[in-house]
Amino acid sequence: MGDAQGFLKHTKRELPTRRPVPLRLMDWKEVYEENFSQDTLRAQASRCMDCGIPFCHNGCPLGNLIPEWNDLVYKGRWREGIDRLHATNNFPEFTGRLCPAPCESSCVLGINQDAVTIKQVEVELIENAFDAGWVTPVYPTRLTGKKVAVVGSGPAGLAAAQQLTRAGHTVTVFERADRIGGLLRYGIPEFKMEKRFIDRRVAQMQAEGTIFKAGVNVGEDITAAQLRERFDAVVLAGGSTIARDLPVPGRDLDGIHQAMEFLPLSNRVQLGDPITDADGLPPIHARDKKVVIIGGGDTGADCLGTSHRQGAASVHQFEIMPRPPEQRADSTPWPTYPLMYRVSSAHEEGGERVYSVNTERFVGEDGKVTGLQAHEVQMVNGRFEKIEGTDFTLEADLVLLAMGFTGPQKPGLLEDLGVGYDQRGNVKRDKDFQTTVPGVFVAGDMGRGQSLIVWAIAEGRSAAAAADRFLEGESALPSPIVPTTVAQR
Ligand SMILES: Cc1cc2nc3c(=O)[nH]c(=O)nc-3n(C[C@H](O)[C@H](O)[C@H](O)COP(=O)(O)OP(=O)(O)OC[C@H]3O[C@@H](n4cnc5c(N)ncnc54)[C@H](O)[C@@H]3O)c2cc1C
Ligand code: SF4
Repeated sequence: MGDAQGFLKHTKRELPTRRPVPLRLMDWKEVYEENFSQDTLRAQASRCMDCGIPFCHNGCPLGNLIPEWNDLVYKGRWREGIDRLHATNNFPEFTGRLCPAPCESSCVLGINQDAVTIKQVEVELIENAFDAGWVTPVYPTRLTGKKVAVVGSGPAGLAAAQQLTRAGHTVTVFERADRIGGLLRYGIPEFKMEKRFIDRRVAQMQAEGTIFKAGVNVGEDITAAQLRERFDAVVLAGGSTIARDLPVPGRDLDGIHQAMEFLPLSNRVQLGDPITDADGLPPIHARDKKVVIIGGGDTGADCLGTSHRQGAASVHQFEIMPRPPEQRADSTPWPTYPLMYRVSSAHEEGGERVYSVNTERFVGEDGKVTGLQAHEVQMVNGRFEKIEGTDFTLEADLVLLAMGFTGPQKPGLLEDLGVGYDQRGNVKRDKDFQTTVPGVFVAGDMGRGQSLIVWAIAEGRSAAAAADRFLEGESALPSPIVPTTVAQR
């Protein structure tokens, strides 16, 4: 611990400032000002108390060695810092930007002061390492001659592939989309994470020997039988792709779309795909539209920020749950991840958040949505009940459904492989992330249910260790977690 009094000298968290809203709405770049001073970061890192029991570890599924790299950053030993960070996390540039930081929610300092700015230290460590040229290919010491297929190139698939390649296996990542990255690429908007960071990491992985095959739908372009024949082991990392729908009257009107129909188009425009009209807008867009987003979570917030950047006339974001409390709720005491009201960068940019509201039907003219009818709800005995007399109509000409995902796509690859499912309809796995089919492993949202990037990476690492053991009888790869579903946590 570099400075035993750091947390007394620097009592406040300091983070990079976000660019002014009118300015950032004019582009798609990340919302933060660049060039956060290293002196400020070192002062922030010095706030870490190097706790006897570092509860931050408890919050992080990856088991990131947080006090160690806080100390190394404070001392200016950046090279050792990134080595300690990479020891547990393949992609700190993703989690450092996108993680909701359960580590910070469990930080001991957070009991009576602002928690340590763990996530900021993480992202600065990795960016500094890339700038310094320290992130170079890591080659295996020997090749095993075994072939592994990874299906899906989101964070779970990428983490599994990198670990297995470094263990000496010949790894091919199949991705049905035309580009690598999963939801990092086509779900999460550019203003949350610029896609160049995925390309930069994929280049490192290619140099290490991982083979990427985009535009290959496994189950169609390669059958399940061919996959088993050609590879010694398979890691399924296809995500949770079936979106929850809202089957109320009027759902079939034009102008009502799933978030994952809307967001990828916008990401494609930023990537230069020729899918725009004369105004530079994608086929589904929010320009001059009254937008209603149904779903108050992160995906909804991504639709909100995207709608504002496209020039929406107005945006409402509906949430069926009540507005969370401003402070930690009693039901989620420290060190658990707190239920509380959060304002993301997209929320700062405008729009109206409407809580305790349920959509009853969509209304329209000439086959197009023009509005929706809704009412307020309250929770009675664990069920939402309508509050009589609260009906209202809201005009809308674009409705985006952002209500989460129900599980993986079963017809095709999964059915052909014959894997089993758990009670929630996700791919069932044992304590080694192996499905009911020997030699076929599963990691990330496909087995866990819709979750977070940090969990996807942790599962990818653990599934890789299990697959390596399956192939070699033993493994030196780390295995940070045992399988859980989101409901079990
Ligand atoms: C809009 C949105 C925003 C989010 N924002 C955040 C955030 O800010 N922070 C956070 O921590 N989490 C966020 N999440 C959640 C996070 O993105 C996921 O938990 C994570 O990406 C899951 O990783 P994964 O690798 O399991 O699957 P995915 O990222 O979903 O990747 C699965 C990939 O598998 C491919 N695939 C599926 N089937 C096949 C097949 N048969 N053949 C070939 N390829 C196939 C899919 O095309 C996809 O590219 C967000 C989710 C969404 C939808
Ligand atoms: S809990 Fe907070 S203060 Fe303690 S070691 Fe972890 S980051 Fe440092």
